[in-house]
Amino acid sequence: MADRADLVVVGAGPAGSSTAYHAARSGLSVLLLDRQEFPRDKTCGDGLMPHAVSEISLMGLSDWLSDPRHGRFRGFALHTQTADFKEPVPPSIHGPRGYVVPRIETDAALLERARKAGARFRGGVHVTEVARSADGRVAGVEAESNDDTSRFEAPLVVVADGSGGGLVHERKAHQNAVARRQYFRNVSGPDKDHLHIFATKELNERGAGYGWIFYLGDGRANVGAGLTNEALSRSSYTLQQLFDRFLKKQPVAEWLADAKPDGPARSWSLKMGMWGARRVGQGLMLVGDAGSMIHPISGEGVGYAIQSGRLAAAFAHEAHAKSDFSARLLSGYEKGLRREWALRYFSGRALVKALPNLAVLEPIFKASEVDRELRRTLIESFTGDASVFKLLKHPKVFASLVRERARKAG
Ligand SMILES: Cc1cc2nc3c(=O)[nH]c(=O)nc-3n(C[C@H](O)[C@H](O)[C@H](O)COP(=O)(O)OP(=O)(O)OC[C@H]3O[C@@H](n4cnc5c(N)ncnc54)[C@H](O)[C@@H]3O)c2cc1C
Repeated sequence: MADRADLVVVGAGPAGSSTAYHAARSGLSVLLLDRQEFPRDKTCGDGLMPHAVSEISLMGLSDWLSDPRHGRFRGFALHTQTADFKEPVPPSIHGPRGYVVPRIETDAALLERARKAGARFRGGVHVTEVARSADGRVAGVEAESNDDTSRFEAPLVVVADGSGGGLVHERKAHQNAVARRQYFRNVSGPDKDHLHIFATKELNERGAGYGWIFYLGDGRANVGAGLTNEALSRSSYTLQQLFDRFLKKQPVAEWLADAKPDGPARSWSLKMGMWGARRVGQGLMLVGDAGSMIHPISGEGVGYAIQSGRLAAAFAHEAHAKSDFSARLLSGYEKGLRREWALRYFSGRALVKALPNLAVLEPIFKASEVDRELRRTLIESFTGDASVFKLLKHPKVFASLVRERARKAG
């Protein structure tokens, strides 16, 4: 006999667990399915930015976040060709700090909250398609586990299968970035309570990208590099080569001189920028990476995944209260996302597309060393706390753009 629920959620990453948690707390019966057994790893930088911290706190995990074994950061350190500066973290409801926690732990903690709220979790269940009734309405999902096929019935399905999931492929956005990371022990750099971001020439030469070193609280550091697919396709190197070359750049090479790798380097794709995905259909919502919710500049996706799940859960509740699973009702979820993020994502994407140009960016980085307001706006547009439009309005940024236009024209 088929298993039934008010809501089936596919994927138990941050987006799926958040959807399941908030929906179960609103009184819905929820089935949360993942093809993997938990705890499971997810290739990531492990950085929990201030707004992710706020979302995680809203799921009742404030005490868990403060565990002394978790890496915590109170600022950002930006390293570029010409500039080097630090800036404190913009405050969140949890305080002016962020965390660096291995995803294997974060995702297990979020899933546990969803289960505690009443969601039923089934691991090792690979969802193969969204099931529909004879009249075309969503009726649940078809899945495979242990060579068996099964059906999970619900009038509403939330797809939270990440960048790597193939479900409702046709609804997903195509714009992408790729990134590679590896854990190291004994990294010797300064300011371990800062997230270190490296805007290197090589990663920005033909598009936008950056490298990072994020310190965990257990003696390890998460070291990575990522760039847009466009930038990668124009580069003469593969992602693996770019990552290896990043490890050899100063000061990274010096910080890694006595470091030992802890496990292999791993790569994964990112769906960024919000545009291009069709996140709502009859009986259907897409959340997190499945809905292309990664911030176009920072590559941060955990907080946005959790927040989109919270919003989708509110519309799942409303759909059940009104017995209306139409795309019209659920489009409120899409509108809510746009109200919240459209400007920031649009301006961020515009920046990444129009200005992946160190001739424009380096003068801005250099000016940020001495201009506190510019530095703050720069970091806030990276964390998503401010839209890039705010940055573009700054006189020094404006001047840098005008100079570059004049240079190109002349
Ligand atoms: C190298 C790298 C570094 C990053 N660094 C950061 C960072 O520092 N901070 C940050 O905030 N974000 C970062 N991101 C982005 C972040 O990892 C994602 O935005 C985040 O994982 C999105 O969560 P999600 O729940 O949407 O998807 P996921 O975490 O990918 O979860 C999707 C789940 O769906 C399951 N699934 C897939 N298909 C099926 C199926 N057919 N049936 C059942 N289950 C299925 C998977 O097993 C998985 O558990 C980084 C990404 C990369 C690649």
